[in-house]
Amino acid sequence: MEDLIKYKYKQRTLLLPLRWIVLRSLVVSLDSRGAKVMILHRSFILQKAKELEMTEKEVDEFLKTFTDFGSILYMPQYEKVKDIVIVNIWEFTQYLDKLYYPEGDSYAPKLLKYGVISKSSVKKIFCKHPESAEDFMTVLTTIAMASKIKSGRSILIDDHQQLDEVHYYLPLARIRAEYNPPEEENDYAFIEMKSVNFPANVQACISNAIMTNNKDAVLIATDYSNISRFLFQSESGPPISIEMVYKGSKTRLRIMNSSSDILSFPATVEACYKVITGSCRCLQRKINTIRDLKYSFAVPCASSKGGCHFLYHNCEPQLCDACSAENNFRLCWSKAAKQCDLLSKGGEARTSENDLLSFQDISGIITGKYDFEAFKRALNIDESNLPDLSSLQDEDSKKKAMMLMLLLWEKQTSKPTRHALKDKLKENGFSDIAEKL
Ligand SMILES: [Zn+2]
Repeated sequence: MEDLIKYKYKQRTLLLPLRWIVLRSLVVSLDSRGAKVMILHRSFILQKAKELEMTEKEVDEFLKTFTDFGSILYMPQYEKVKDIVIVNIWEFTQYLDKLYYPEGDSYAPKLLKYGVISKSSVKKIFCKHPESAEDFMTVLTTIAMASKIKSGRSILIDDHQQLDEVHYYLPLARIRAEYNPPEEENDYAFIEMKSVNFPANVQACISNAIMTNNKDAVLIATDYSNISRFLFQSESGPPISIEMVYKGSKTRLRIMNSSSDILSFPATVEACYKVITGSCRCLQRKINTIRDLKYSFAVPCASSKGGCHFLYHNCEPQLCDACSAENNFRLCWSKAAKQCDLLSKGGEARTSENDLLSFQDISGIITGKYDFEAFKRALNIDESNLPDLSSLQDEDSKKKAMMLMLLLWEKQTSKPTRHALKDKLKENGFSDIAEKL
């Protein structure tokens, strides 16, 4: 009996590759128009596999193995595309090219300038595979390259609404250069993200979360490739516009309305809340696929010391006097963060500038090539605390002296953070050293 089972099992494993070959040929089959199929549904493949007496588990193994080979693409880690199998990757990339590098097509100007395209235009691109257009865009939305917007009425291009049909927002399709916000600007909140595998395009993902979950949200088309703008129209207050500037690991969020009156309306806090919640939704979805992703929300501090204040759920704003006195856009963001239960207090990324100096920080900037007297003045080092250094000649002893001065500065400073030292050095003409921090 046991032998029989073994024999059956052996036969089954021997037959498996053969079934895979049959299934593979089916997957590259032609559709009714004689064109190669680009996307198949897993449910369809399952049904065909049943005829070959294959189990569901075997089909999934088949899909996984051929994805590893690179001959098909199946991404079951994303819930929304679990039924989608890209069986012709080459053609899929051809369509990606068509979408991102349109030439002379009627939809091209809007797409290249604002990253906006209507569903009917997408269908035109897919005239050879009309049945695959929606699946294609679902894949792009799932991997955060596109954001789906239910109606063009929720998109403003030069103050004009678009047609009432589904549209897609592809922030990366825009060809204009990135906007570089001025360094001295500090009227924003920011999301800091940390990950080894940093998500390349958070913009589409956050836009998708904001636009899907808020009926009143409108996308204001912008041509800078790293800016997305949203307008929130509540019944109780004035329309509030918020801008998101994507730049490396820090994404800035800014309330656009110029008048400071706007900051006293509950509608403003509500709009901030929607942006924070949308961002958290997007980032938490990303955490499922990027394990080391951490994020936190903060506002830059208005005082001369710099640094920032972190914002948490269920936590009173911990703003310093300078921040609560100056104006209250910081209060809007912190009130909004306080309400957002998707913002947790643990595991967040913290900007390292607020950290106290570490030994690595100090040793990392030590050099023998600096002006000894100027450095001593810059850090306000009391002569009496320094041993006799009049004989400083060689590089080695200059390095030792620099280390000593930095340690003395650390001791005499109430909050010796990286940020504080950086500022001190920059103010006193040691920008080259500050850059190394
Ligand atoms: Zn402050």
